[in-house]
Amino acid sequence: MKHYDYLVVGAGLFGAVFSHEAVSRGRSCLVIDKRDHIAGNIFTKNVDGINVHVYGAHIFHTSDKRIWEYVNRFAEFNNYVNSPIAAYHDETYNLPFNMNTFSRMWNIRTPEEAEKIIESQRNEYIAGMKKERGLSDDEEFVPANLEEQAISLAGRDIYEKLIKEYTEKQWGRPCTELPAFIIKRLPFRFIYDNNYFNDRYQGIPVGGYTGIVEKLLEGADVRTGENYFDVMNSAGTCHEGVLSDGERFTFSKLLFTGQIDEFYGYKFGPLQYRSVRFETEKLDTDNFQGNAVVNYTSKDVPWTRIIEHKHFEFGKQPVTIISREYSSEWEPGAEPYYPVNDEKNNALYEKYRNLSESDKDVMFGGRLGLYKYYDMDKDIMAALDLVAKELA
Ligand SMILES: Cc1cc2nc3c(=O)[nH]c(=O)nc-3n(C[C@H](O)[C@H](O)[C@H](O)COP(=O)(O)OP(=O)(O)OC[C@H]3O[C@@H](n4cnc5c(N)ncnc54)[C@H](O)[C@@H]3O)c2cc1C
Repeated sequence: MKHYDYLVVGAGLFGAVFSHEAVSRGRSCLVIDKRDHIAGNIFTKNVDGINVHVYGAHIFHTSDKRIWEYVNRFAEFNNYVNSPIAAYHDETYNLPFNMNTFSRMWNIRTPEEAEKIIESQRNEYIAGMKKERGLSDDEEFVPANLEEQAISLAGRDIYEKLIKEYTEKQWGRPCTELPAFIIKRLPFRFIYDNNYFNDRYQGIPVGGYTGIVEKLLEGADVRTGENYFDVMNSAGTCHEGVLSDGERFTFSKLLFTGQIDEFYGYKFGPLQYRSVRFETEKLDTDNFQGNAVVNYTSKDVPWTRIIEHKHFEFGKQPVTIISREYSSEWEPGAEPYYPVNDEKNNALYEKYRNLSESDKDVMFGGRLGLYKYYDMDKDIMAALDLVAKELA
């Protein structure tokens, strides 16, 4: 029977980085994934020469030189810059909020004009709210929900056209029922700059993300279509498993990058997530929307975004592939995408984390194991931190 130093559950980015580092230090790894492919949510699939981001648009961006150099060891990155478009009824705006957005919205040109309009809309709103609440001029207006927070930061026009209905579609409830903390600040740029991210480094791996994970997994044994709970149930002991073809194995330690609540049989109750449903379609046109990402910010359109995958790699194919994204409540069986890190869920996660401390041979990692939204660069950093602790 084969023995592994590590059983890694999840062939996503976290599991792959850990496994790569372990293998390069002479340790043996078996990496399993319940899906029928590697790469987790960064999986890209080549269809008609277009790399489709199957689990949603993924743009690599980081300010950390060490992480940028790390990923560049496994792929060549192009110079894609994320510059989403917002479609509100028949109006089209640039995102993030910058001088292009403001000049389109108010037919103005200078930063001074834009600042003045935003400032006056904010002040008018805050004054009205203070009056409504019987607050004096000296007393501070504290926004009680997301709507109040957003208007007091951005003014009415931007809130109503670009924030309100989009946010309500994303969260499935009115902005007046969402907590203010979701929008801590709004990154306004008073320059003509449509680059969505502020990070120093940005791009898309030429040929897609799956190739990166393939390279990271070199030297490990990898088995897809294997659910940890079936693999372990069939063996019945803690450090022994049996794969679906009957092959038995033992391992010293486990890295689990699936859901921590599921690992513990939902003992304290399930953690909440937001999910996304993708409807992907091939169209017989070479250019559907002229941009990789278009956000639909009005509620009469049921999807939140349309992604046109070819534009991530400046594709020239005669056809195109688009994905409509619909935000939805997560329920068991659906893909858990975004952890809902509110007080209630964070407290529940803490219970699972405390429980996990007593499992000395089990490590948790990744966005599901740590119940935290991680961009790819942060996910890699977290994996390398674990490597530093575990494999020093
Ligand atoms: C819609 C969306 C868009 C995003 N866009 C960006 C972006 O533009 N830029 C960016 O930097 N980041 C983005 N991210 C974040 C990025 O997807 C994550 O950083 C990354 O995928 C995390 O990798 P992971 O290995 O932690 O998790 P995952 O990719 O989820 O990997 C976990 C793996 O574990 C497997 N698994 C779970 N349970 C079991 C089990 N019981 N048995 C076997 N296998 C199991 C799963 O099948 C999965 O493959 C986005 C995320 C989402 C949801």
